[in-house]
Amino acid sequence: MKFEDFNFVPQLQEGLDTMGFTKPTPIQQEAIPHILANKDLIACAQTGTGKTASYLLPLLHKIQEKDESFIDTLILAPTRELALQIDQQIMGLAYFTGCSSIAVYGGGDGFSYEQQKRSLTDGVNIIVATPGRLIAHLTSGTINLTHLKHLVLDEADRMLDMGFYEDIVRIISYLPAKRQNLLFSATMPPKIRALSKKILHNPVEVNI
Ligand code: AMP
Repeated sequence: MKFEDFNFVPQLQEGLDTMGFTKPTPIQQEAIPHILANKDLIACAQTGTGKTASYLLPLLHKIQEKDESFIDTLILAPTRELALQIDQQIMGLAYFTGCSSIAVYGGGDGFSYEQQKRSLTDGVNIIVATPGRLIAHLTSGTINLTHLKHLVLDEADRMLDMGFYEDIVRIISYLPAKRQNLLFSATMPPKIRALSKKILHNPVEVNI
């Protein structure tokens, strides 16, 4: 199988070509068709399997196709390191598209004032955030997620281990009820099953 088989918008295929991605990994082959078909998805996948691109590619394709100018996708990640890695992968894959992203995380240099202004006025499409810092922006009104269409929980097991359950539930209370939900986790303990029951609707399950 080749990436061309997914028929992504040409600007996204160009990004894949530039990054030297030719063949989809197993998680990408499994997950991408379900995400393109707007299904909710729960995926058991480790780091290094290509899990990040497995959700970024179909989401970037959908954003580009609709030419959106609002915050379409929220990606929650446990740490600033992971949030930055995801944001960097978006910048690479989305380079030739009109899609833009912003990383929102705690600590001194996260989400500067200029970036904040851009997110409000310039139509950022994707926010990659750690839960605690995002809540601060939601409660102060600097980020508006009322048009959100897609929610991704990446490394969900680590987020729960780090005590983010309440924050995640609170963030979800700011989101429109009608949205696509994607949950990625390296392990599937009962608490991940419980979270998935609470958030996902008839999810497709993918195990790699
Ligand atoms: P991840 O599992 O998402 O952390 O990805 C691991 C690494 O694999 C990242 O550096 C990606 O840039 C790279 N990668 C993801 N998908 C592919 C692919 N289809 N072909 C080659 N490299 C890939």
